[in-house]
Amino acid sequence: AALRELLLGRIADVPDYPQPGVMFKDITPLLADPAAFGALTDAFADLCARHRADKVVGLEARGFILAAPVAVRAGVGFVPARKAGKLPGETLGQSYDLEYGTAEIEIHADALAPGERVLVIDDVLATGGTADASLQLIRRAGAEVAGVAVLLELGFLAGRQRLEPGLKGAPLEAL
Ligand code: IMP
Repeated sequence: AALRELLLGRIADVPDYPQPGVMFKDITPLLADPAAFGALTDAFADLCARHRADKVVGLEARGFILAAPVAVRAGVGFVPARKAGKLPGETLGQSYDLEYGTAEIEIHADALAPGERVLVIDDVLATGGTADASLQLIRRAGAEVAGVAVLLELGFLAGRQRLEPGLKGAPLEAL
């Protein structure tokens, strides 16, 4: 409960960003506070241990910032899931539906080994489309989904429901 209050107190609400009617959750105040960022990193690292993760996948771009220190703290590898066209090697890609149009994320084809347990980390779970695409990539790479861990879940966008089939019983943790 104390962790929750610490984290929520460092997330700013920015109205009408990136478009009118949207309330953007801005985590930059949390990143600038070493006590809060450290507590968040520790909490994610605890989830890595609890769910026996061998690797963390960070979702571009804020997921990179959060997942990289977690990987170091937990002693596991970090793998970036990037927007299409950014990774230099051979990739696996997965497209997913947005409200208008589609998006695609990629991982390196050799980034995950068969049987490895992978925890997906991101800042905000909104509609769940991005995280769901990452679960499909992990499974296509032959690895196992240890879970999805986010700082903040926007419950009214029902991302948890969208993720449920792809999780296949793996946990979704919102700190
Ligand atoms: P989704 O695919 O709809 O769940 O969107 C999640 C992606 O959009 C994540 O990678 C988030 O970083 C980003 N996102 C959506 N809404 C917000 C927000 O309010 N604050 C920060 N990031 C957001």
